Amino acid sequence: MDRLYKPSKLSEILSKYGFRFTKSLGQNFLIDGNIVRKIADAAEISEYDNILEIGPGVGTMTEELALRAKKVVAVEIDEKLRDLHKETLDIENVKVIYGDFLELDLEKIAGEEFGDEGFKVVANLPYYVTTPIIEKLLLSKVNLISITVMVQKEVAKRLAAQPGNKDYGSLSVFINYYTDCKYKFQVPSSVFMPKPNVDSAVVNLKMKEREDLDTDFLFKIVRAAFTTRRKTLLNSFSNSGLPYSKDDIKRALELSGIDGGRRAETLSLEEFIILSVNFKSVG
Ligand code: SAM
Repeated sequence: MDRLYKPSKLSEILSKYGFRFTKSLGQNFLIDGNIVRKIADAAEISEYDNILEIGPGVGTMTEELALRAKKVVAVEIDEKLRDLHKETLDIENVKVIYGDFLELDLEKIAGEEFGDEGFKVVANLPYYVTTPIIEKLLLSKVNLISITVMVQKEVAKRLAAQPGNKDYGSLSVFINYYTDCKYKFQVPSSVFMPKPNVDSAVVNLKMKEREDLDTDFLFKIVRAAFTTRRKTLLNSFSNSGLPYSKDDIKRALELSGIDGGRRAETLSLEEFIILSVNFKSVG
C-alpha cells in the first residue's frame, strides 16, 4: 500500500475529499519519507512508547509513529479532516482527538489515554503557535518524557542556544530550565506541500529533573536581564521596570558573584537561578 508521504498518494487523498489548505492553521504537509523516518528516529521511539502528536494533518507522521509505538494519540484542530481520517488513520493503535491543543485539558487527556505511563510528543508543529504549544507542554503536570518537533529554523536555534550564542535569549533559558534541548537537523522547504516560505529544523527536548523554585520570579528576572540585550546587566535591570534601586541591583549581582558589566547573553541558567535567589534576599 502506498504511504501518505508519497506526493501522488497525498494529492489523490486530498482531491478525493476536496481538502483545501488553511494557511492560517500552518498546514504544510510532509511529502518526504526520509524526513518522516528521521523525525521518528530523533524521537527514539520503541514499541513500549505512548506518543502524543499535535496536528496530524492527513496523517503522514502518524502512520510512521503507529508502526513504531504502542499507542498514538493525535490532536487535530481542523474538523474538515474527520472524513479523510476515516480512511488514512483507521489504524488500531491510533486515536484522533479534534480540538485546539491550546484549549485542551492536557492533564485529563494524558490520564485518560496513557494512565500512569509516560509519553513522548512528536509533531510537525503549526508555526504560528510553536511557543505557546511548547510552553503548555512544559508547564503541564503530566508525565512527559520528551518532545521532538519540527519548527521554524530560527526558532529551533533559539530553543537550543547556549550562553554566548547570538540566538541565546529568555526563551533559551526557559527551555534549558525544563529540558536538555538538542538541535537535530535542518529541513528544506521542498519536503512540504505547499512549500512554506521559511526553512525548518527538528529539535529534541528531553525533560530534566529540576529543583523546586519560584519559577515565575526566576523568569521575571531572566526577561528583565534581556530587556536591553546589548547593554550591561546593571543597565538592563535598572531600565527593566523591576522595583529595585540601583544599589539593590548592585548588591544582588555582587552576592551572586556576577560582574554587572556583563551582558545577559553570557549568563548560564545556574547564574540566573543564583541571581533570582539573591534578588529575593535584597528586595
Ligand atoms: N503532521 C502533518 C504533516 O507533517 O504532514 C501536518 C503538519 S502541519 C505543519 C500542522 C498541523 O497542525 C495541521 O494539520 C493543522 O491543521 C494542525 N493545527 C494547527 N493549529 C493547531 C492547534 N492549535 N491544535 C491542534 N492542531 C493544530
